[in-house]
Amino acid sequence: MKPFQHVNASTTDEAASLLHKSRGKAKLIAGGTDLLGILTDDILPAYPRTLVNLKTIPGLDSIKEDSKGLRIGALAKLSDIAGHPVIKDRYPMIARAAGSVAMPQVRNMGTIGGNLCQDNRCWYYRYPNHLGGRLICLRKGGTICYTLTRDNRLDSIFGGPEGCFAVCPSDIATSLVAMGATVTTTRRAVALQDFFTPSPGTILDADEILTEIQVPRPREGSRSAYLKFRLRKSIDFAMVNVACVLTVEGGLCREASIVLGAVAPTPWRAKGAEDVLRGRLVDDAAAEEAGQIALANATPLTMNKYKVAIARVLVKRAILASA
Ligand SMILES: Cc1cc2nc3c(=O)[nH]c(=O)nc-3n(C[C@H](O)[C@H](O)[C@H](O)COP(=O)(O)OP(=O)(O)OC[C@H]3O[C@@H](n4cnc5c(N)ncnc54)[C@H](O)[C@@H]3O)c2cc1C
Repeated sequence: MKPFQHVNASTTDEAASLLHKSRGKAKLIAGGTDLLGILTDDILPAYPRTLVNLKTIPGLDSIKEDSKGLRIGALAKLSDIAGHPVIKDRYPMIARAAGSVAMPQVRNMGTIGGNLCQDNRCWYYRYPNHLGGRLICLRKGGTICYTLTRDNRLDSIFGGPEGCFAVCPSDIATSLVAMGATVTTTRRAVALQDFFTPSPGTILDADEILTEIQVPRPREGSRSAYLKFRLRKSIDFAMVNVACVLTVEGGLCREASIVLGAVAPTPWRAKGAEDVLRGRLVDDAAAEEAGQIALANATPLTMNKYKVAIARVLVKRAILASA
């Protein structure tokens, strides 16, 4: 690692001001589970001179529920979210998604803010500098997206609107978008689904900080399921994950929210699948049809057609599990 200055911030205003004054030469650090790997491999063309530590800001890790729903501070640790009694009881899908991230060591350090703001995991983007020089791919300002001509088994099956085919790697994003979460930053409040962009990943400006995530109370009678497919079950990113929230009354589906992760540069809402379920009996045939519709517009690359089949089955299983 190259040397950098480490500054403990005591307020979000102070942290934002440090970022602003650095003119792009400072980075925020929360748990560090993503950022320190990036610095070790020296993958970014501009190495930060300063890391602004958010862990020293009091109260930014709080988890509270009020009449509107759940409020999670950006510094709340994944292990605290996975084990929180209120979240396990009333927002179980979020607890399951947080508990599915990596392994205990990462969950004990990693924060929800860092999870939503983490960088993508594309092999070419992440290619370590010490292994013969970093790859300046499209996302880093180059002209080529290497996934198009090389191994692309883990990349997007729904294209890349800005030419980058890296998928959004966050497990929690999928479940939070399905729950209709919103986020607050030092500058604005937005629906979480609008927080993500294909490239660079989020809407955050260089001196903007994610401070809180709000999750509305689940509707009366709603049920949810979160399923994650990965190679190594004890520690791995999703090859596909699916979050499903259904409100079923008298056996019929009244509301549906289905979101897929690790299949596109941002969390992918399966609107067609949601529409086909509304007003219907949620049985095997309806879930199968929804799975087919959810993947009907997929445009897989040369080596990732298998993801389409996995996603189709996961959507069906998540619907049946929720119902
Ligand atoms: C071995 C391993 C396995 C992993 N497996 C998974 C997995 O299965 N699923 C998954 O979802 N993730 C996985 N991760 C990725 C990730 O490290 C964690 O999900 C973690 O939540 C990141 O949080 P952090 O607090 O450590 O982030 P940091 O590393 O501190 O920060 C990550 C990025 O977010 C920025 N950032 C942090 N907080 C804020 C904020 N409040 N506002 C604005 N920007 C901010 C930082 O500047 C940095 O760019 C894995 C990581 C490792 C090392």
